[in-house]
Amino acid sequence: MISNETADPEGELLGSLRSILGPNVLIGVGLDLHGHITDTMCQAADVLIACKNNPHDDYYQTGQRVTRICLDAATKKIKPLLSRVHIPMILFGNDETSGGPLFDLNKVARDFEADGVLDISIFNVQAMLDVPDMGQVITAVTNNDPRMGAIACETLARQLLAREPEFKTDHLEIDDLWPILKQPHTNLPFAVSDFGDRVLAGATGDGVQILREAHKRPEVKAAIPVTDIHAARALQNHAVGETVQISLGGCYSQVEPINLTAVVQLHHDGRFVLDGPWLAGLQANHGLTTVLQLDRLVVVVTERPAYSQDFNFFASLELDINKFDFVVCKSGFHFKLSFAKKAIPLTIGTSGIGQYDPNRIGMRRKPVWPETDETPKISEVAHFNLNSN
Ligand SMILES: [Zn+2]
Repeated sequence: MISNETADPEGELLGSLRSILGPNVLIGVGLDLHGHITDTMCQAADVLIACKNNPHDDYYQTGQRVTRICLDAATKKIKPLLSRVHIPMILFGNDETSGGPLFDLNKVARDFEADGVLDISIFNVQAMLDVPDMGQVITAVTNNDPRMGAIACETLARQLLAREPEFKTDHLEIDDLWPILKQPHTNLPFAVSDFGDRVLAGATGDGVQILREAHKRPEVKAAIPVTDIHAARALQNHAVGETVQISLGGCYSQVEPINLTAVVQLHHDGRFVLDGPWLAGLQANHGLTTVLQLDRLVVVVTERPAYSQDFNFFASLELDINKFDFVVCKSGFHFKLSFAKKAIPLTIGTSGIGQYDPNRIGMRRKPVWPETDETPKISEVAHFNLNSN
C-alpha cells in the first residue's frame, strides 16, 4: 500500500505494533509477492514472507506457513532470522510462476528450503509504484543462520538479475483477437483479459476498447463488463425488456465513451460469492448492476469496478459463458485460475492505467533498471534479528 501521506504504510503499521508490543512478542507477516518491501518493515517484523504463486492461489498456505514458523519460534524450537537483499530493477512481464524464469527461481528457493532454510520469498514489486528505493526483494528466514540466509539471498538475486531480459510482455493486440476467434479451437469459449483496464491492478474498469471493436463486428458473441457509476444508476429507472440509449465508459479514465442502444435484460444488486481459487468464498459487491443485450453482445454495467476475473461474476448474472465466443475479464492474471478448464485465456494489451507507462503516470522516483542504462547493483544482504531472546 501507499497513501498520500506516506510511501510505507505497512512499515509504519508494523513499527507502531512493535513499539506497543515490545521486542519479545513475535510478529509474523504474510504478504502478496508484488509487495514493496522496506527496511522499516523488516526491522519491525520477526518473520516476513510472500505467497509463492502468481497468479495467487496460495494466500491460505502463506498464512499457514508464517503461523507455523512463529509457533516454532514461540516454543523456542527455532530462532528466526530475517535476511533481505534488494535489486533496483522492475519486471515488465513474463512474471508468472507456472513457467519461465520465476518457475526456475522458485525451484531453487524450494531446494534451499529442503536444505533447512525456513522460507525464501521472491518479491516482484509492482512496476508502477512511485516510491523511493523500489525494486526486487528476496527475503530468507533461517534458524538464526546469517551465512545460510546470505547465500540463499545472493544466489536468488544473481539468478533474478541474470534472467532480466526474459521479463517482457507477449500480449496480443486487439486486432489479433478476431482471427483467433475464427480459427478452429476446442468448444470452450475464450476468457479475454482487458490488460490495460484490469481492476485488480487499480484500473477503473471503465474502458470500452474491446467493447467498441466487438460492437463493429455483428458476428461476434461476447459478454463484456463496463463500470460506469452514472449509467448503472440511470439504468435502474428502466424496466426489463425496455430499449434504452446509453453512454458507457470513461467516467474516471480518459477514454471516449461509447453510445449504444440496448435492451435491459436483468437488474442485479451486484453481490456474489467468489468462486476463486483467489479469494474463494469472499462476498464481492460491485453495486447496482444491469445486464444489457444488443444483438449478440451482452454488456454488464456495474456501479463499481467488478471482480470479473471470477467465474461467478458471470454465473451470478445468469450468463452462461458457453453461449459466447468470449467473455472479457478486467484482470491480467487471476482470471486464468478461475476460468481454468472453463475457457481459453487470452491477454490483450489494451491501453489504460493497467499498462506500464512512466511518462503518463509521471514518476517522481529515480528510474530503475531497465529504465536506466546503469546495470543494477545487488545490495549487501541485511540481517534483521530483533527478537534476540
Ligand atoms: Zn499480487
